[in-house]
Amino acid sequence: MPDIIHLLPDAIANQIAAGEVIQRPASAAKELLENAIDAGESSVQLIIKDAGKALIQVVDNGCGMSPTDARLSFERHATSKISSADDLFCIRTMGFRGEALASMAAIAQVELRTRKAEDDTGTLILVEGSEVKRQEVYATAPGTSFSVKNLFYNTPARRNFLKSNTVETRHIIEEFQRVALAYPDVEFTLHHNGMEVFHLHSGNLRRRIVSVFGNIYNERLVPVEEHTDVLGIRGFIGKPEAARKTRGEQYFFVNNRYIRSPYLHHAIQQAYRDLVPDQSHPMYVIFFDIDPARIDVNVHPTKQEIKFEDERLVYAYLMSAVKRSLGKYSITPTIDFDVERSFEGFGKGPVPANLKQPGGKEVFTLTAGQGMGAAAKPRVNTWLDLLQTESPAGTITIASRMPPEPGTATGGRQLLDTESDTRPYQLHQSYIFTTIKDGMVIIDQQAAHERILYERYRRALAGSRHMSQKTLFPQTIRLATADAELLRQLLPEVNALGFDIQEFGRHDFVVHGLPPEMEGQGEQEAIEGLLEQYKLHGHDIDDGKRDKVARAMAVQMAIKQGRALDEKEMRSLIDELFACEDFYQAPNGNLTFVRYTMQELERLFQKPGT
Ligand code: ADP
Ligand code: MG
Repeated sequence: MPDIIHLLPDAIANQIAAGEVIQRPASAAKELLENAIDAGESSVQLIIKDAGKALIQVVDNGCGMSPTDARLSFERHATSKISSADDLFCIRTMGFRGEALASMAAIAQVELRTRKAEDDTGTLILVEGSEVKRQEVYATAPGTSFSVKNLFYNTPARRNFLKSNTVETRHIIEEFQRVALAYPDVEFTLHHNGMEVFHLHSGNLRRRIVSVFGNIYNERLVPVEEHTDVLGIRGFIGKPEAARKTRGEQYFFVNNRYIRSPYLHHAIQQAYRDLVPDQSHPMYVIFFDIDPARIDVNVHPTKQEIKFEDERLVYAYLMSAVKRSLGKYSITPTIDFDVERSFEGFGKGPVPANLKQPGGKEVFTLTAGQGMGAAAKPRVNTWLDLLQTESPAGTITIASRMPPEPGTATGGRQLLDTESDTRPYQLHQSYIFTTIKDGMVIIDQQAAHERILYERYRRALAGSRHMSQKTLFPQTIRLATADAELLRQLLPEVNALGFDIQEFGRHDFVVHGLPPEMEGQGEQEAIEGLLEQYKLHGHDIDDGKRDKVARAMAVQMAIKQGRALDEKEMRSLIDELFACEDFYQAPNGNLTFVRYTMQELERLFQKPGT
């Protein structure tokens, strides 16, 4: 039998390797930005078209390459950054694997223009599908420009796998911000479809953070600085009041390389414990400086994971450094109820007085909604007890948590007992109990309202323009760069929901009107809240932009747990819920209600085993 093993041609091997290094346009942007940094430049431009799907270009004014190096740079394992295995233990550059350019050249059309300052002329090289198509002497300024065009042009499956432009752009912006934060002394610009999205001047870290995340951080940064023999920790953390519902402003860098670390994130959360409300995330940009011999960055091709020699020690240092900074700027001890109330902020709705007691402790009292007579009180209590008993209720709950069979979903109203005039009860200002034809349902008021609004907004987006309430005086709002970019992309949808917003420069927007239901809210708050919601959930689902905007708006506007409802409000909530298309689940998939049929209730009372 003949031998059957052979070596793969380079082009194929490179394509396979590319799968690991280049997952999406943002990975290409990251690799090119890091190469530019390694080339020791003072200014870097990132230019993208069509969310990077058409073009990702990075221009630097760094060291440039000789014609031979330029040609070699596209070979796999070709690098100027390490030359022996020993070098692996003292890596100070961002790159070292020599894989990025070879990978990109395998799955895109790459154009390189480069010139060393001391040379008179430069070089132009075109590579496509790992094949050099052209190489010539070229007149260009010192430095390097790489253009990656039509990424994944020869791997359609991967190209189809890319997300919407909004999502891909956001990934690119994230990579850009990471590099920009790590190198505040370098000037960076980012252009998308010909429009300048970022222009970051060189300066110190504080200034860089403010220009990346926006002016709201100007007064809200606390420095962290701690040095030991093994480890230096430096950077900034946000004051607790700057904590936000969405993650995305949490950055760790080890020797200037961005890393992810849920473990170290936990150390910071511990330091902030009791200072920020649940599910809020403090902002931080923290740099670890450590002897490269004590870490391993070669764990993963994207180099976003690293191993520390002693991770627990790093955890402990970090937590104490952050705590000390919070203490030094006297943030820690004085924070209790008063400050916490200001966190209640946006999107949560007011917390009724009887839920929060001084000291921040939650005290639940059973309040009768206006529609509920005093006599009903003990009954509700019994219900609650009953539902909390373990075994029999458990089995039944599973049965009734099942959504109605398909087909009945359109007939939610049929479930309702329109004859009966029993009043709905509100329990703990969160759940509504009501009778249906063959039993009862318990409705989660927040989930239900989210469903109602979601369908309403979706209809508004599909059809005619929603009403907008003109504000008396148009307001100008200013957003952080990434948010501004996001809003620009969502503007048609947002305006169709009743906002009347106009672009006004790179960070600014003029708000001429809000949807009537948002009356009384500040423009800035309303819009930032909506964007937060969008970012919070926009990633996970692959719905269209419209659906995501409708969802973000619904979550933002829905009544929350803890809001007392009167009988009329409850009735209309119930009516509208069961008129929905998908009345049994909230847009995020949570159930809007659970149902107990009379039969199930009956079984609940039977002795176990009968
Ligand atoms: P790595 O960065 O891991 O070395 P790459 O494939 O990204 O591998 O790059 C290969 C080589 O090309 C680098 O080692 C460097 O010598 C050269 N190079 C890449 N980008 C630039 C640039 N912007 N300026 C100068 N040299 C560059
Ligand atoms: Mg590289």
